[in-house]
Amino acid sequence: THFGFETVAESLKESRVGAVFSSVASSYDTMNDLMSLGIHRLWKDHFVRSLNPGSNSTTSATAKAQPGWKILDIAGGTGDIAFRLLDHASTIHSDHSTHVTVADINPEMLAEGRKRALQTPYHNSDQLSFVETNAEDLTMIPSNSIDLYTVAFGIRNFTHKDAALREASRVLKPGGVFACLEFSKVQNPVFNEVYKRWSFSAIPLIGQLVAGDRDSYQYLVESIEKFPNQTEFRDMIKEAGFMVPGKGWEDLTDGIAAIHKGVKP
Ligand code: SAM
Repeated sequence: THFGFETVAESLKESRVGAVFSSVASSYDTMNDLMSLGIHRLWKDHFVRSLNPGSNSTTSATAKAQPGWKILDIAGGTGDIAFRLLDHASTIHSDHSTHVTVADINPEMLAEGRKRALQTPYHNSDQLSFVETNAEDLTMIPSNSIDLYTVAFGIRNFTHKDAALREASRVLKPGGVFACLEFSKVQNPVFNEVYKRWSFSAIPLIGQLVAGDRDSYQYLVESIEKFPNQTEFRDMIKEAGFMVPGKGWEDLTDGIAAIHKGVKP
């Protein structure tokens, strides 16, 4: 890089993201509910239902010798997605052998997840584990070992999204699925106006009033704005070597969020 500026900027970004999530860890759920008017719960439910974890028709093209899915929930933070995945597997498919590894770069978010796991049936089971790691370097996860890789509201914070996508592709089994739930671009221009006003004015204000932290929420709004649109992100997934089914994504609430999927060939 020229004079190392990029490296400095990148490490600044990483420490910034770290500070943001350390600061929001405990008020995380309340804030999500307030900012999204509770809708993030519906998106997460829909995301998990669409993945149908624990079903016999495995995501993996390779015939499965053992029951249960091996799932990696990246940027899994407080366990929001992991608990839903395990709930779905057990209630819908009576599957009690699916395993979810929650991976996150931030120890405070993981601590919050571990604390929450105590309230679930999974805390003493061998269905759930936590690991502190950067999504861009999953060295501890063997290649071709994962049936389903999920990342919800995480990837837009990664410094090297392409590296994270390549790691996703490496750890997945052939036929394994990459699934991402992330903020995206609103399709309807009128609704987009309303949404932009809401996010740029109300969200930092709610952050200030509820979490006492305006800057972190200002950062979150800006990171949403900077994230690639639906087509661009789909193309990044393709570039990492995934096959993309259909048009490659599903818009939620007119594109406020979107689900992108890719299959490892
Ligand atoms: N998946 C959860 C959800 O949907 O509620 C948590 C999402 S939270 C908005 C984003 C998470 O991404 C934080 O826990 C943060 O620590 C994590 N994160 C940010 N950068 C990361 C990276 N490079 N590798 C792994 N996790 C990262």
